[in-house]
Amino acid sequence: MAATIIDGKSFAETLRGRVAGHVTRLKAEHALTPGLAVVIVGEDPASQVYVSSKAKLTVEVGMASFKYELPAETPEAELLALVHKLNEDSQVHGILVQMPVPAHIDPNKVIDAISPDKDVDCFTPANVGKVQIGLPGPVSCTPLGCLLLLREYLGSLEGLNAVVLGRSNLVGKPMAQLLLRENCTVTIAHSRTRDLAEVVRRADIVVAAVGRPLMVKGDWIKPGATVIDVGINRVPAPERGEGKTRLIGDIDYAAAVEIAGAITPVPGGVGPMTIACLLANTVTCASLINGLEPPS
Ligand code: NDP
Repeated sequence: MAATIIDGKSFAETLRGRVAGHVTRLKAEHALTPGLAVVIVGEDPASQVYVSSKAKLTVEVGMASFKYELPAETPEAELLALVHKLNEDSQVHGILVQMPVPAHIDPNKVIDAISPDKDVDCFTPANVGKVQIGLPGPVSCTPLGCLLLLREYLGSLEGLNAVVLGRSNLVGKPMAQLLLRENCTVTIAHSRTRDLAEVVRRADIVVAAVGRPLMVKGDWIKPGATVIDVGINRVPAPERGEGKTRLIGDIDYAAAVEIAGAITPVPGGVGPMTIACLLANTVTCASLINGLEPPS
């Protein structure tokens, strides 16, 4: 039997609806309008698209959106000064600097400059540590999105074998941490893992965050497993016309969909959840900054 398709697009819409409800309550009960500042340096077209869609959805859920578009040659000191200014701005509760920044800017210095209280991407060491020990605060957006999809589909994750492919600070490591918090037995696989196919075959939950098109084959998947494909790979699509491209994941979807119990498509799976979780994190930060209990 073919797998259930986990509809991230529709679940992200539901999540944004919930966020909008929290925003309405914060406004009515505490005269508090959560605000998200998004900073982009340079004209990278993909980053421009992300930033515009983040700003649009921020407004749609009733939050204040502040957008700063800086030229590619902006000196590092100028960007850091803007981040410091936003740290002090009481209307701003979340600060996101779109990565990657141009090569002359050190991304680590930018992350260090963001106040952990407003670090909606959960990049700062303070917030990474809080996730690790289970303190309230923002949670890495893409892993949080994956977790919410898993919970939605599976309910309790307790005792399940989870394999995370990839160990980046952005996705793999925080994903593994969140699954551990759910009482999964977690394996983190990476480029040096031996017998990767065998490791994946043991998994009740597979989260692939590698960035290699169709790397995970259908026969690596345990029958009935839940498969979350984080990978976004742009590949040529001559069938759509000359020079056209399309997005595919890290999982060989056509094969895996026949074996898995449930699977996320690419696009329309994890991607839309990431922005919805960014908005949820902004509400969390706005609540904590104002001494309020963040929504669960
Ligand atoms: P990174 O390049 O930072 O990390 C990739 C990871 O994959 C590394 O840990 C690497 O191992 C591992 N890896 C590479 N090759 C292999 C291999 N042959 N076998 C096993 N593991 C391997 O990528 P990110 O974590 O930033 O992103 C991963 C993917 O997720 C990308 O396609 C990205 O576009 C996508 N993404 C999607 C998002 C969304 O919203 N849907 C958000 C963020 C990312 P090692 O550490 O040993 O080098």
